[in-house]
Amino acid sequence: MASLLGVIGLVLVAPLAALPSYDFPDKRPFDGDSWANPYAGWQGPFLKVNLHAHSRAWGGLTAGQTSADELARAYAERGFAALAVSNYHQVTRLEAAPLPIIRAYEHGLNVHKSHRLVLGTDDAVGIDFPVSTRSSRQWVLDVLGHSGGLVGLNHPSLRQGHSCQDVEALTGFQLLEVHNPYATSLFEWDCALSAGRLAWAVGNDDAHSTREESIGIAWNMVGAEVATEHALLGAIGSGRSYVVRGERGRMDVQVVSLEVDEAGAMTLLLDGAARVEWIVDGVVHHAEDGVWESRFEPPAGAHYVRAMVRTPITELVLNPIVRSGRWSRPVATIDWALTFASWAGWLAAAAAVAWLGRPARRLQLVAEPLKRAA
Ligand SMILES: [Zn+2]
Repeated sequence: MASLLGVIGLVLVAPLAALPSYDFPDKRPFDGDSWANPYAGWQGPFLKVNLHAHSRAWGGLTAGQTSADELARAYAERGFAALAVSNYHQVTRLEAAPLPIIRAYEHGLNVHKSHRLVLGTDDAVGIDFPVSTRSSRQWVLDVLGHSGGLVGLNHPSLRQGHSCQDVEALTGFQLLEVHNPYATSLFEWDCALSAGRLAWAVGNDDAHSTREESIGIAWNMVGAEVATEHALLGAIGSGRSYVVRGERGRMDVQVVSLEVDEAGAMTLLLDGAARVEWIVDGVVHHAEDGVWESRFEPPAGAHYVRAMVRTPITELVLNPIVRSGRWSRPVATIDWALTFASWAGWLAAAAAVAWLGRPARRLQLVAEPLKRAA
């Protein structure tokens, strides 16, 4: 029994021992004399898109209950412009779909629910670590990034899949799922943004069936002219989209435009009355109720500003407008000195375990002459 546990432990830990150790850059808040506004000059359209849903896959081992075709039909019938079928470690292809399908998969086979969303790539990366560390999470993000496509963190707050401290340190993710039926991660998103980890918000159903109540919980309104994968991912990757949490796909307020003038004042236009909240560096700074238009002058020293819009049945999460000019995207790098030290440590530990577990031959050699003498 003990040896079986030992083998299981070894299988779980051995891959971690082989991993490099990373040097995580310090927090690097957005900085500069100008504002970078992902919505600049855009007056619509915004297309309704879900980026995270599961169909039946892996012989029914995962939780998806319906075929990808049925899932696509359900989303098309409910007025979505495009869908990503994001099965685990598998890019799903459809022969004739009733709406554009964005190539996607969900990555993550580990006990912590550290899951990632990969969009716009043909081949799924299979490898993951059942037990993960911050360095293993960074290594996975780097591998996913090299495979092409956009990489996001799914439901980070779910079982601390990616904690506040993780998203402040990690780099190499461009999206963060703030709304998902199983987890709201606005707090983790502000952790990332405050540390200068620029990740655009996405919100998704994480649907596992076509039941009415599982579709249209959270989605994205993407600023693209046409519903092609190229146009949609281009817009999502540059932040020209916003997240909606609604009710069975319904929303009673939409964004018309968000502009920043030369003096730095921000103006949000809506197509209906709602409460508008202006959030500066993670803290609500100003709120107005029942307005179609809201103007906000950020305080000096603000690193990023984001707006949220609320009605009794709808919540809109807009992407941040960030300070730019003196900020560059942080990148975690491999710390080779630490890596070699850690490898040496693991080797020493393995040698010690092997020495302690060696067969007791020498004891026998000593014991034999004693026996003969007796
Ligand atoms: Zn997941």
